[in-house]
Amino acid sequence: MKRVLLLGAGHAQLAVLAALARQRMPGAEVLLISASDRQLYSGMVPGLIAGRYSPAQCSIEVAPLAAAAGARFLRGQAVAVDAAEHFVTLADGQRIDYDVLSLNTGPVQDRERIPGAHANGLFVRPIEAFVQLWPRARAPCADDLIDVVVVGSGAAGVEIALAVHQAIGERCTLTLVSDGPVLAGYGDGVRRRALAALRRRRVQLLPGRCTAIEPGHVLLGTLRVACDVPIVASGSDAPAWLADSGLALDAAGFVRVGATLQSASHPAVFAAGDLIVRDDQPHPRSGVYAVRAGPVLAENLRRFVGGGALVPYLPQRHSLNLLALGDGRAIASWNGWSFQGRLMGWWKDRIDRAFIGRYRPRQGPAPGRSRTA
Ligand SMILES: Cc1cc2nc3c(=O)[nH]c(=O)nc-3n(C[C@H](O)[C@H](O)[C@H](O)COP(=O)(O)OP(=O)(O)OC[C@H]3O[C@@H](n4cnc5c(N)ncnc54)[C@H](O)[C@@H]3O)c2cc1C
Repeated sequence: MKRVLLLGAGHAQLAVLAALARQRMPGAEVLLISASDRQLYSGMVPGLIAGRYSPAQCSIEVAPLAAAAGARFLRGQAVAVDAAEHFVTLADGQRIDYDVLSLNTGPVQDRERIPGAHANGLFVRPIEAFVQLWPRARAPCADDLIDVVVVGSGAAGVEIALAVHQAIGERCTLTLVSDGPVLAGYGDGVRRRALAALRRRRVQLLPGRCTAIEPGHVLLGTLRVACDVPIVASGSDAPAWLADSGLALDAAGFVRVGATLQSASHPAVFAAGDLIVRDDQPHPRSGVYAVRAGPVLAENLRRFVGGGALVPYLPQRHSLNLLALGDGRAIASWNGWSFQGRLMGWWKDRIDRAFIGRYRPRQGPAPGRSRTA
């Protein structure tokens, strides 16, 4: 028996579990290790913050999926990989050997990049921790006015700022700190619409780089901005625990993979989702691509164990993006086009609920297709 170790219950690995539930992998003992018992679906997290969803509505329980797939589930946090010796080390010191490793642990946020952020900031990742800490962070607002500063103006930062406004309304002052253009990488139409939405909610845009977070203040150089809740939504980084793995990594530490999702250096290691960088076909890091890679990952793990030529994952050239505006509306964008309104919000809600629904134990898992399109 070969041990196939699925590390991280990310989007692609959910599809692997679904595929295994339909058809087992002969000759393999499958072990899933993930940091949490549930996978919180990030696309619904702004809606959760806005008060539109409960945590249960945004969660996929991992253990029942593993059971249906015939896989053993171990809750654990990987802290090291040794690709030469084929083992993973967990935070509790356990050494887990593997024959085939499939990595889908997602990105992290470098907690040391902004001085003081580690101690004083509320990071959006890990999403599980963010969702648990948010109710406590906003608690003072029940009586008083609070100042909330969101650091980072990518899609997550903008969605979270609008969601916070929806949740707290005029009882908070909201500032979005941006060290570049808001929603960099998005088309002009989306940016215009999003900026208008931020203006309508009186979210103050503060251009500049956050240089430190102190209790009560966010600093941009010499500028001190009063802040009770500093939310750090600034980008995503590669996990530091991969640095000494021996795996081929790019300069930023992401796992270099080829078209078959195999590591560029170690063919027995596969990886998918935000953790990877494709040498041949670079694509953005987003849940859409992680979901799309899932069926190919499942197929290639099966073929690698059982024999047969591996198949390539061809990332789509354009993807549909749906940006939640907090109030039930959304901005949809596709290949330079953008649309906005309640209908887009309804559409996003339907897609998100359908994705979660696929992995509800009652209905039995089915292959995830796409978060959006
Ligand atoms: C607030 C927010 C909103 C977003 N909205 C969208 C959206 O609407 N559409 C979109 O396409 N993208 C969205 N994104 C981006 C999206 O979240 C990522 O692109 C996506 O999560 C990447 O998926 P993944 O499968 O690589 O990893 P993840 O979804 O991060 O899953 C990683 C899994 O691995 C586990 N894990 C992590 N570290 C370890 C470890 N060391 N050991 C073991 N297990 C581990 C985690 O518990 C988790 O189960 C959003 C991000 C944020 C922060």
